[in-house]
Amino acid sequence: MFKAILIEKSESGQNVRLADIDESSLPEGDVTVRVAWSTLNYKDALAITGKSPVVRKFPMVPGIDFAGTVEQSSHPDYKPGDKVVLNGWGVGEVHWGGLAEKARVKGDWLVPMEPNFTMAQAMSIGTAGYTAMLCVLALERQGVRPASGEILVTGAAGGVGSVAVALLSRLGYHVAAVTGRMEEADFLKRLGAKEILPRADFSEPGKPLAKERWAGAIDVAGGQVLANVCASMKYRGVVAACGLAAGMGFPATVAPFILRGVTLAGVDSVMCPREERLEAWKRLARDLDPALLDALTERISFSDVIPVAGKLLAGQIRGRVIVPVAQDA
Ligand code: NDP
Repeated sequence: MFKAILIEKSESGQNVRLADIDESSLPEGDVTVRVAWSTLNYKDALAITGKSPVVRKFPMVPGIDFAGTVEQSSHPDYKPGDKVVLNGWGVGEVHWGGLAEKARVKGDWLVPMEPNFTMAQAMSIGTAGYTAMLCVLALERQGVRPASGEILVTGAAGGVGSVAVALLSRLGYHVAAVTGRMEEADFLKRLGAKEILPRADFSEPGKPLAKERWAGAIDVAGGQVLANVCASMKYRGVVAACGLAAGMGFPATVAPFILRGVTLAGVDSVMCPREERLEAWKRLARDLDPALLDALTERISFSDVIPVAGKLLAGQIRGRVIVPVAQDA
């Protein structure tokens, strides 16, 4: 038996509980992992609260991330004792996920743990941090460099945003952080932000083209915020868009794209090809100050996962949340 968060669905709605599950119920896969640490991401909170139809198969064990040790493997790349990390691939959505003491997955989905990180640090990064790195890589691919000018990060006090601020600052960029929580200004400055801007500056409908300001942007908000970010990009600026915290819509005009040559680069972490994942994790090991990870991470117990999911969606959690899953983790 192993412990897991379990989401069940009946005619009366969704029920979530901490359950004891028989190992024989584990899904198909060629690698079984003893999970040591997991995390709570925005998508996990949507799944646990049922606020969005993230879970597409019931019953489901949520958790789009885990770090752990291989217990059994018939995959050529992994053997018992190997330390591994999983992010995405539909795990926690259509395949049982990481908020459990055991997980069974396809070995092709795993990445070897970067030796620079402890398992807890790998989960402090988690999908949110790995996505922040994918956004940085997207900016770099389009030619953005520290000398290009200021970079804007929205939702800066959240998971993706806080890691993005820390990464960009360490790489030498001048970072402006947008937040709805001005009380987190000191926190954001500690991560390296040079300027803190109130979210309200970006939330209302604006002009198709605003004053040219940003050479690059990482946007977790979508909606009106993303439209205003695009409108205020410098000529040939690049926006990496990865989130929808402000909404799924995109009430923008094409003006920034056709008159300023702005690039809107979409970023998806879930089905991201393996080579790019490995590159992102290598760059995280090189470019992220591990000391800052502690500053942006809150540790919660397995039994707190369900109540904290609601707080995360309400924007009350700062940075990242990690969950020690194994008793000895
Ligand atoms: P968090 O909840 O940790 O952070 C989201 C942050 O967005 C909040 O902390 C808040 O920051 C800001 N925010 C909340 N509501 C609004 C709003 N109405 N308007 C503008 N900003 C708002 O989530 P994550 O950082 O983990 O994820 C952020 C987004 O990125 C989510 O939409 C998530 O689904 C998406 N995502 C996408 C991935 C992909 O593969 N494309 C992977 C990972 C995440 P503050 O208080 O500073 O304003």
